[in-house]
Amino acid sequence: MKVLTNESLSSYTTFCMGGICKNMYFPQNKQELIQLALEKKDCRFIGGGSNLLINDSKEFDNVICLRELSQELDISDDGFVTASASVRLQKLINFINKNGMGGIEYLFSVPGLVGGAIYMNAGRGKAFNCTIADHIVSVEVLCLEDTKFGGRGEVAELSKEDCCFGYRNSIFHSNSFLILSAKFRFPEMSAEESAKRRKERLDLCREKQDNLKPNFGSVFCEANPKLMKLVRKLQLGDKDGVHFSGKTNNWLLNSKGKKSEKGSFDKALKLIEKVKMLHKLFRKPCKPEVIIWK
Ligand SMILES: Cc1cc2nc3c(=O)[nH]c(=O)nc-3n(C[C@H](O)[C@H](O)[C@H](O)COP(=O)(O)OP(=O)(O)OC[C@H]3O[C@@H](n4cnc5c(N)ncnc54)[C@H](O)[C@@H]3O)c2cc1C
Repeated sequence: MKVLTNESLSSYTTFCMGGICKNMYFPQNKQELIQLALEKKDCRFIGGGSNLLINDSKEFDNVICLRELSQELDISDDGFVTASASVRLQKLINFINKNGMGGIEYLFSVPGLVGGAIYMNAGRGKAFNCTIADHIVSVEVLCLEDTKFGGRGEVAELSKEDCCFGYRNSIFHSNSFLILSAKFRFPEMSAEESAKRRKERLDLCREKQDNLKPNFGSVFCEANPKLMKLVRKLQLGDKDGVHFSGKTNNWLLNSKGKKSEKGSFDKALKLIEKVKMLHKLFRKPCKPEVIIWK
């Protein structure tokens, strides 16, 4: 197994920010992953790193990166699709589309892995009410502590209901489980329709999303649209460091360039706190979506 020491986590997040990891592990298969996850008690997991804001002045002991894990995709005779946690979302979508199924083409632009998407219950905006959970039958997990589904070290199968999916939320936020794979049921879809949906999604993202600078998608899963519009107009933050996008509501951007020119974790956190305060002032609910490793 590949192990890197004193590796900068900034290379593993789409926001290009993160401190040093003393030991970064890259398991190649499920057995290695399970053994490692049980051995390193307080380890953290990183998939696509596309929903993470990581402290850049902290040292992390053990991080397990799921990107080099074997990517398994399978379809049963009765149409159930199984994908391992390390499969890229685009790969899953291409696979189901090739097999005459579809339904999650809106995730074609999302730079995450299946495990991270299930953890986050990734989907379209709240108004559309579509998430990956719509198609989940069950999720295979390793219990990292004693749970009602199994004791520490046991592999368990959680039904969709067991996963307690909510808007960008799931039982996995308890961090009691490592997601290993998931079983899905997708509706039938013609190749023309799925290709059209993929293209529509990419066109929409090109038009609406501020992808020129490092980001992690939406900062908040609950926020007031009017206040977020104000934040966008003001482009709160430091233009040469961390700042809110002037193009996409609810997106925080980091600056490209040398490390010294980029924004810091402290500044990112302060901006998030500022927006939370603004909501408090107007008595509006506000909840971060991004997972923060303090
Ligand atoms: C340009 C851009 C566009 C985006 N668009 C969308 C969008 O349209 N909709 C949307 O919902 N999100 C969007 N996001 C956010 C993000 O891509 C999703 O939340 C994605 O599902 C995160 O997956 P990941 O593999 O990158 O997870 P990571 O960021 O690597 O991890 C997120 C959390 O999941 C945990 N985790 C990851 N894998 C596992 C596992 N196997 N077992 C247990 N825990 C695990 C991590 O420890 C971490 O706590 C976007 C982000 C970007 C950068």
